[in-house]
Amino acid sequence: MAAAATVASQLPHFAGLRRAGPAKIEPFSHAAVHFRLDQSRRASRAVVAMAGSGKFFVGGNWKCNGSKESISKLVSDLNSSTLESDVDVVVAPPFIYIEQVKNSLTDRIEVSAQNVWIGKGGAFTGEISAEQLLDIGCKWVILGHSERRHIIGEDDQFIGKKAAYALSQNLKLIACIGELLEEREAGKTFDVCFKQMKAFADSITNWQDVVIAYEPVWAIGTGKVASPQQAQEVHAAVRDWLKTNVSPEVASATRIIYGGSVNGGNCAELAKQEDIDGFLVGGASLKGPEFATIVNSVTSKKVAV
Ligand code: PEP
Repeated sequence: MAAAATVASQLPHFAGLRRAGPAKIEPFSHAAVHFRLDQSRRASRAVVAMAGSGKFFVGGNWKCNGSKESISKLVSDLNSSTLESDVDVVVAPPFIYIEQVKNSLTDRIEVSAQNVWIGKGGAFTGEISAEQLLDIGCKWVILGHSERRHIIGEDDQFIGKKAAYALSQNLKLIACIGELLEEREAGKTFDVCFKQMKAFADSITNWQDVVIAYEPVWAIGTGKVASPQQAQEVHAAVRDWLKTNVSPEVASATRIIYGGSVNGGNCAELAKQEDIDGFLVGGASLKGPEFATIVNSVTSKKVAV
């Protein structure tokens, strides 16, 4: 922890190692990864393998889980855990427990909703508005999650409207993208992710409040985590997409986090990847100590060379 803090203080927001320009991304080849590792070997001190300039970010998506009692235990475990300082940490309880969590969780961890209505509140039965979330101190919202796309049936246009309205009200956004297994097998991973990115980008004017979560659908809740190389390839491609379609500054500053069966055992290897700026965690976020391990995997980004 002390050593980590020293390295971090020398390298604000892990700015020690960035690639000089966009590497050409070949779908699912390892060439780009090797290029970046070669660059990193030129350094002669402790550096950080991070292509972007944003702070490491870990979100916990509690989905439709928990009771007053289990959430009270989870909050107490989170409150007593030691978390590295150079990480933004956010948890997303079900709507009805947000206030309980806000009232009991340490301010070190921010709170997100898992959904929000497309506009101002009113006669929209069962919905929750951005204004209501802000009213109870909830600062973030997750949108575009695969469970809402593929189980509830939300499409890009609807998700884009939600994103635009949430950001206009100053809610911060965890914007999820990711391909189905059949799309990956058909070689369409980049096409799918870029199309979902475009729908978000068309709705976003202020990227400062946006974190992109790449979550391959085949990896969510299945125990089949993407390999570090599979995740890195898509993250690098998404960053290059941002560079071309938004701006180099946004590409560098926007956190691109990985989600899909991340746990205490696999987070360190994933975190070492240059374009992985953190995680969105489902199942493992329901266990306080394991979630803390995932938050603290930021330390594995610091590599001695
Ligand atoms: C998620 O739902 O965002 C997620 C990543 O779930 P899990 O970690 O359980 O795969």
